[in-house]
Amino acid sequence: MPTNTQYEADGTITRRCHACRQRRPLTEFKRNNAMLHGRGYMCKKCHTNRYSNDKSFNSWWQNRFNIARKRHRVTVNIAYIRKLWTAQTGKCALTGVAMVFERRSPFAASMDRINLTVDYVPGNIRLVTIAANLARRNYTDEQFQAWLAAVRAV
Ligand SMILES: [Zn+2]
Repeated sequence: MPTNTQYEADGTITRRCHACRQRRPLTEFKRNNAMLHGRGYMCKKCHTNRYSNDKSFNSWWQNRFNIARKRHRVTVNIAYIRKLWTAQTGKCALTGVAMVFERRSPFAASMDRINLTVDYVPGNIRLVTIAANLARRNYTDEQFQAWLAAVRAV
């Protein structure tokens, strides 16, 4: 796995975060003595998001529930979402990229209804990046994956 580490002209070292893709000073990365320069691949902010404390995890998903409730029935709860999050290891079920808890980010975590004729109920939910969610829209998984494969092949 590349570290995306760079030596800047001013003598500082920067690294591109594996999750948010932002280039940040090395000091903004969590310490990890097993890694190059003793810092991990993910910035502290993303690390917190990924291995979130209950408070930020819960408030993010409560907000997503509130948005979903405007148009649909929502019977999944935080415990259910946490199980999915752990099973997916924080990665988008449609694209495989890491999700974040940041408003306005295309990588922001959201709930996707697998069967669009069914509400936000257990068994019909997977966690996906908001951009993938919007792009998939009403397309079937087959259609979406065909489109994604075409984009990746460009
Ligand atoms: Zn990051």
